[in-house]
Amino acid sequence: MKSKIVLLGPPGSGKGTQGEKLSEEMGYVRLSTGDMLREAVRNGAELGMKAKGYMDSGALVPNDLIIDLMKEKISTLEPGTGVIFDGFPRTVEQADALGEQIEIDLALNLDVADCELVERLTKRRSCPECHCVFHLTHNKPRQEGVCDKCGSPLYQRDDDCDETVCNRLEVYRKNTLPLIDYYERKGILVTVEGTGKMDEIFAKVKEAVR
Ligand SMILES: [Zn+2]
Repeated sequence: MKSKIVLLGPPGSGKGTQGEKLSEEMGYVRLSTGDMLREAVRNGAELGMKAKGYMDSGALVPNDLIIDLMKEKISTLEPGTGVIFDGFPRTVEQADALGEQIEIDLALNLDVADCELVERLTKRRSCPECHCVFHLTHNKPRQEGVCDKCGSPLYQRDDDCDETVCNRLEVYRKNTLPLIDYYERKGILVTVEGTGKMDEIFAKVKEAVR
């Protein structure tokens, strides 16, 4: 089994969901920069407030800020722990910085077409309390605007609005696509088609991890 995995894929590709399933079924510790940043913003932590300005405009949070947060997390892990990095690295610079901390043995790339991504992202609604995510077409909440799980009012994340989504995909292409080449050159890249039934995608993901 691969022990240090980087998950790659544009916003909305479902890599968060796949990472969660890997963590539930196979015991990986999932380090998501997105969750980590949102948590820091909610807590009003210093690094979090710095990051918020960048996130709201759909821009990338600067490397040194991400790396500081990530270093903090890595230092708390037992040696030999299986780890999934989700949302980090996003640039070749970050990948080099991560490589200095930890040896990555698999880069898993979830591939989804842009038109499908826009459809998925702009119709996404999130729960601020339990972090459940719904979709207005594919995964409607039972009652409009209310979380099925905990009854909280749902909201649209600032970075899921139309304009910001297009900006995010552009930023992704510019910064993250070189990462695919980077890990391919290292011989540890596996690309999985991220369209279709979630369980079928997960079966392919598990195969890549073994
Ligand atoms: Zn909820």
